[in-house]
Amino acid sequence: MSQHPLTKEICEIAHYLYSKGLAPGKSGNISVRFQDTVAITPSGVSLGLLKENEIVLTDMDGQVVAGGNNPSSELQLHLEVYKNKEETAGIVHTHSSYATGFAMSGEKIERLEGFGERSKPFLKMVDYKPPGTMELAKLVGEGLKYEDVVILENHGVVATGEDLNEAALLAEFVEETAKTQFVARVLSKIEFLG
Ligand SMILES: [Zn+2]
Repeated sequence: MSQHPLTKEICEIAHYLYSKGLAPGKSGNISVRFQDTVAITPSGVSLGLLKENEIVLTDMDGQVVAGGNNPSSELQLHLEVYKNKEETAGIVHTHSSYATGFAMSGEKIERLEGFGERSKPFLKMVDYKPPGTMELAKLVGEGLKYEDVVILENHGVVATGEDLNEAALLAEFVEETAKTQFVARVLSKIEFLG
């Protein structure tokens, strides 16, 4: 698959996420839905080095329709989210360090301005299921029905949007939110002179 508006957008966002340190190594996967087609990053390729011809196109059942690579191991998770939420057209999954640190310690991330209802003080956390499994895909699909972003216990972040850019900016914002809360909590434990 090459030279398609979807693959161009995915490459640009993948490189952006990598440059921001949100998807180190070969971690992270992103996708875009267009009508009944999903364009998703391949398995085992760094988002920082992703090329347009490496992106895989599948139908809504996960059958590869274009692209010679294996799709991301989290393809089912992406498909479940799209099936459950008509308006979602872009998904970003990261293991960004601060948000994932919260996810691994079981600490919830507070909502800051910019997403979610203030009546719900913390970002939704989805119970742990092994990565790449249908159980995880189902839980995330359910969890995102009424949320734009969920934290995966012991794992990472899934952010969604009406386009991929929106999802990427939300993933970035969640990471900044987690970082700010981490700093605030550490500072609150330190006694300063003067
Ligand atoms: Zn993951």
